[in-house]
Amino acid sequence: MQNLTKQIIIALILGIIVGLGMNLFLPDLFGPVDTYVFSPIGDIFLRLIQMMVVPIVFVSIVLGTAGLGDPKKLGRIGGKTIGFFLLSTTVALTIAMSLALLVKPGTPGLLDSVEIEEEYQAEETPSVVETLVNIVPTNPIDAMTNGEMLQIIFFSIFIGFALAVLSKKTDKIYHLFEQAFDLVMYLIKIIMYMAPLGAFALIASAVGGVGLEAIQSMFAYFLVVLAALLIHAVITYGSVIKFLAKKSPIWFIKNFAQAISVAFGTASSSATLPVSMTTAQKRLGVRESVSGFVQPVGATINMDGTAIMQGVATVFIAQVYAQSLSLTEMLTVVLIAVLASIGTAGVPGVGLIMLAMVLEQVGLPVEAIGLILGVDRLLDMARTAVNITGDAACALYINETEPDLDEEDDRPSLNSNA
Ligand code: ASP
Repeated sequence: MQNLTKQIIIALILGIIVGLGMNLFLPDLFGPVDTYVFSPIGDIFLRLIQMMVVPIVFVSIVLGTAGLGDPKKLGRIGGKTIGFFLLSTTVALTIAMSLALLVKPGTPGLLDSVEIEEEYQAEETPSVVETLVNIVPTNPIDAMTNGEMLQIIFFSIFIGFALAVLSKKTDKIYHLFEQAFDLVMYLIKIIMYMAPLGAFALIASAVGGVGLEAIQSMFAYFLVVLAALLIHAVITYGSVIKFLAKKSPIWFIKNFAQAISVAFGTASSSATLPVSMTTAQKRLGVRESVSGFVQPVGATINMDGTAIMQGVATVFIAQVYAQSLSLTEMLTVVLIAVLASIGTAGVPGVGLIMLAMVLEQVGLPVEAIGLILGVDRLLDMARTAVNITGDAACALYINETEPDLDEEDDRPSLNSNA
């Protein structure tokens, strides 16, 4: 394992110890230390990596699409990627709901012993049609300013496609993108030196703020979500890596650990994107054209970890309210949660907003989200790690099963040293 990865993992463990320790033994001190030390340091790190998201997505997708050249290849990768994402999210939900039905983490008695933590206000969620129409930006600069990922992806594919068709005519712009890519990669490398400190601060802040009490009352729910995440990561992704990509899952984990630990610290797939892309390209050997397309799309629309939380939470809430879910309702949950993950942004806590939509569809009370709010920050870390692992597993699978995608570029290559 790389040195930096080890440092980040050690920092995460230290962060958990310090956060928990302060929560238990120095609760009065935690507030000021969090306000003046943990939160600002964590935020600076988060902002630094977030700063690179739009540049890396734009530059990599343009280069990736231009490198693929042929729109047919793009269509094939696109179809395979979306198919993979939909299928793996469905598997994730099936695991989550089956486990929750089997273990029964929720009992009606819970409602008497636990107060609903906070009033939970459901937010407006966009409809699926709206989400699809919104993929086309009216103003690409606006899309970049607002970090509208699907719109940026759409625009970048267009530019990349045009560069491929115009070929030699647009040599200079193509090379400009190549150089911009080197530049972005270099900046990410520098920012990552701060990752151990940033991860420590983020996790100490999160763990210190949650504490044991919230976990104790929701322990069964907490464990079922974690178990389902683990089963999905080990069995589903393990099988994809072993049988479809024909690589060793241990090798995958060792080499992708850096991105996983950053996802854990930040609880944001979108913020982790620059790290997960560089890690997949440099350490897993995924070609830029594949990683540049699959991972940004995945960070936006593929959220298996989030779907798992939603699956377990729905069954849990139904159990707490002594409502049984019919088979049709369970299928509705799967369908809505799969669709919801397409419109969900990869930022902390957004999975809960989408959970409101799922609960509404099957007639469960949305306020019940208040029950699980207290432990959600910690689960968010774990599910985000699963979310980005799924994207990387898909990128590796496509990389290994599409060997003839190699860039057929007839431009004279500039010396690229990324
Ligand atoms: N934090 C998750 C992510 O960025 C989304 C969520 O489940 O809230 O992938």
